[in-house]
Amino acid sequence: MAFQGALEIHRQIQEGKITAVSVLKQSLQAIAQQDLDIGAFLSVHGETALAEAAAVDAKVSAGETLPLLAGVPIAIKDNINVTGMPTTCASNILTGYISPYNATVIEKIKTAGLPIVGKTNLDEFAMGSSTENSALKVTRNPWNHHCVPGGSSGGSAAAVAGAMVPLSLGSDTGGSVRQPASLCGLVGMKPTYGLVSRYGLVAFGSSLDQISPFAGDVADAAALLQLIAGFDPLDSTTLKTETPDYLTTLEQLPSNLRIGVIQELNGEGMQPEVAENFAQMIELCQKQLGASIQTISMSGIQPAIAAYYIVATAEASSNLARFDGVRYGQRKKTTGDVHAMYRKTRAEGFGPEVTRRIMLGTFCLSSGYYDAYYGKAQRARALLRKQFQEAYGQVDLLICPTSPTTAFKIGEKASDPLSMYLSDIATIPVNLAGIPAISIPSGFDKSGLPMGLQILGPRLSENKIFQVARAIEQVTGYHHLLPPALAQTVAQ
Ligand code: GLN
Repeated sequence: MAFQGALEIHRQIQEGKITAVSVLKQSLQAIAQQDLDIGAFLSVHGETALAEAAAVDAKVSAGETLPLLAGVPIAIKDNINVTGMPTTCASNILTGYISPYNATVIEKIKTAGLPIVGKTNLDEFAMGSSTENSALKVTRNPWNHHCVPGGSSGGSAAAVAGAMVPLSLGSDTGGSVRQPASLCGLVGMKPTYGLVSRYGLVAFGSSLDQISPFAGDVADAAALLQLIAGFDPLDSTTLKTETPDYLTTLEQLPSNLRIGVIQELNGEGMQPEVAENFAQMIELCQKQLGASIQTISMSGIQPAIAAYYIVATAEASSNLARFDGVRYGQRKKTTGDVHAMYRKTRAEGFGPEVTRRIMLGTFCLSSGYYDAYYGKAQRARALLRKQFQEAYGQVDLLICPTSPTTAFKIGEKASDPLSMYLSDIATIPVNLAGIPAISIPSGFDKSGLPMGLQILGPRLSENKIFQVARAIEQVTGYHHLLPPALAQTVAQ
């Protein structure tokens, strides 16, 4: 299935060459064959998905024109609510919780007719960069089963990279879609803050979170973003923009393209192969796309991680207060009063990383410390936004490697949260500034693990980002990549 893109599958369903039910069955079969090893899914919902696929086939038989992407199976990160399915956030605290409502993106997906195959693994409450913070299972990178798939949306990335579904959704608060896309050889697109509704996404850092697509190529990612984007009266932070159409102009390349290289994210502290690969990408943009290249220095990049870990933890400490054993999921029994019940439920329900972040966030917001930490972080954030704005006065887009390293071994960084935090240096500034950025596959390291190029643009420049990403993808040919072991089985 990974040989074909989502749009191609959709076209064949519309033309009656294949049925949505047969595509779905292939997807379920791939999950049955591979997911015992990969561990991408926390729950699979074959029956409801089959009914959704059959409804699409009925429309084709009736001669109807299908909505974009109808019939393409999709996997959903398990912090996005789907009616009747569990939402675990990969946390023990939500054991037994079944969602009574659909997120807005899910309403759109269901209306369009994409069968929802299952819910995917993540770092608990989306806090992490490797999916190792999941309380429920280990997810392996389809390119090397000893390595992490990245995170926090590691399950959604592994589901697409492992050719189990052509599309999936993740959420990106500080890089959780772009970094796993980079580590798994996929396209991952974090839209402008407010382009996609957060209604029904379990909140982590509300001023940073965006639901974001994974796909095998740029066109598929653009199609999925087009489908889920748009103003939503249920999310007051959504932007009042027109529904975008990225596909019509996707093949056009902006003329006189000016690309900036972020000096602070060029080489230093990166795996040497990542730095070399990035140098090749700069050359490609210059020679093949005819872009002019200039170096842009941004002093706001370095403090971004520190600022992020204050803003994100502060927001998380407030957002996660609702998980107290009263309304959602698990309630621990005690002989004490209601406070004892809260304490026991939260102490036993949250894992170590979530606990660490709640404590950090609560501390940063506490009286006497608020201005020293939270206020200062907000000032660093404002400076970064300003520097991005200034940069986009000089160039159209910025580029850098998505992640300083390729996929690391499972367990390698698990006991060192700080080194894990530092690996988000290139992705975090994007969320702090609220701007869009994509990660596209850019090559492989010596051991055959994928690397990614990140392209950043000003607010609402998704169209231009997609156009340039598409042009690069056509030069490199790095799309719909299949891990070698999988390519062999598919070919047999
Ligand atoms: N790795 C970052 C963190 O741990 C980003 C997570 C995310 O984008 N959800 O917070």
